Amino acid sequence: MFDKILIANRGEIALRILRACKEMGIATVAVHSLVDRNLKHVRLADESVCIGPNPSPQSYLNIPALISAMEITDAVAVHPGYGFLAENADFAEQVQKSGFTFIGPDPDVIRLMGDKVSAIAAMKKAGVPTVPGSDGPLPENSERCLEIGEKIGYPVIIKAAAGGGGRGMRVVERAEDLINAIAVTKSEAQAAFGDGTVYLEKFLQNPRHVEVQVMSDGQGNAIHLGDRDCSLQRRHQKVLEEAPAPGIPDAVREQVHESCVQACIDIGYRGAGTFEFLYENERFYFIEMNTRIQVEHPVTEMVTGVDLIKEQIRVCAGEKLSLKQEDIVVRGHAFECRINAEDPQTFFPSPGKVNNFHMPGGLGVRVDSHLYSGYTVPPNYDSMIAKLITYAEDRETALARMRVALSELVIDGIKTNIPLQEDLVRDEAFAKGGVNIHYLEKKLGL
Ligand code: ADP
Repeated sequence: MFDKILIANRGEIALRILRACKEMGIATVAVHSLVDRNLKHVRLADESVCIGPNPSPQSYLNIPALISAMEITDAVAVHPGYGFLAENADFAEQVQKSGFTFIGPDPDVIRLMGDKVSAIAAMKKAGVPTVPGSDGPLPENSERCLEIGEKIGYPVIIKAAAGGGGRGMRVVERAEDLINAIAVTKSEAQAAFGDGTVYLEKFLQNPRHVEVQVMSDGQGNAIHLGDRDCSLQRRHQKVLEEAPAPGIPDAVREQVHESCVQACIDIGYRGAGTFEFLYENERFYFIEMNTRIQVEHPVTEMVTGVDLIKEQIRVCAGEKLSLKQEDIVVRGHAFECRINAEDPQTFFPSPGKVNNFHMPGGLGVRVDSHLYSGYTVPPNYDSMIAKLITYAEDRETALARMRVALSELVIDGIKTNIPLQEDLVRDEAFAKGGVNIHYLEKKLGL
């Protein structure tokens, strides 16, 4: 096992990783920007290193500074968390080349899954259901493109192979708009990602977002840990998640789970990963794989009882997967509300000093947050400041528990989206289960 891990992240996920390391008896190094010196995990880490000024390109995205911090502290591995450099194959490669371990899959696997065209091809090969599409990059020839569009049927969506974060996509309703839309998306993709490769797939009208959690040791062993529904989104940002995804027939669910496990084995995947799908009319359609731990991992931890961060650290230290598929039993139901420092109406970020922070508690209530009374939320980074998670034997009780927990949560001094979450946990359609990815934006009148 690793002696010392450097945590290349901030906020709640850095604290989450720190806690796992401490439980495992692994020494920790926190890195931080100037403004982040008072972060909770920085105070609790064995050592800390200031890696640069506040803007992330100069600190949390500063690869030479991170490698130097590993060298001066004798850390042997780096946990990237999510966001920042978590899916940056060049970072993973430089970590390896410098003689350290990147807690995640091999750089080549990150690259394979980072390019959507190669990711879809790998998934098809493994038997993972994909969206009917162009099966590779669109050809230069306009006639051929029109034929592909005709065969798939409109509406279609043109997507950049290198796209991410909801950018580089364009929906086309009619054949007469296709050629122009391809040209525009191509040049946008070239400008934004330095790669103008685009492909085309069927545009699903009212899907849900359902994803499958996997863990794999890169030594031929892989398991899934069930699924999550993250359909409540605003601008492709998830707001409220749950596990398991409600109302999916067992046979359909099991088939997709198994295909994800097979894909992990096929691509030699190591670590924690998520297969993201659109789900419509009882069918799954792969859209992308996230080769890292995700924000919403706690809901899976609650229903499986597995500590995903600890397991991720173990397999990335070269240990064989300690869990077998039959050990994974999904029991009960969990919800997660993302609490953001933002105006609940305008969604503008609301950084500033937290005068008072009171956490809810009780059976089945979990708070993953780096907040404390007196902490100042800086304006420089993501606005998520806490994750409130509830667990119960069934969905209805877990949701009732979330209503109570939200009513106890106090964050004074800054604006937060707690009022929005209060509203969502009382929404009738959401309570029934299975709303689609457009539901939240429609409800908000967007
Ligand atoms: P990114 O990597 O930018 O997040 P994704 O491929 O994950 O891109 O897609 C982001 C979002 O775009 C999805 O969650 C969904 O809302 C929408 N989307 C993508 N592909 C389709 C599709 N074929 N049909 C309908 N919506 C889609």
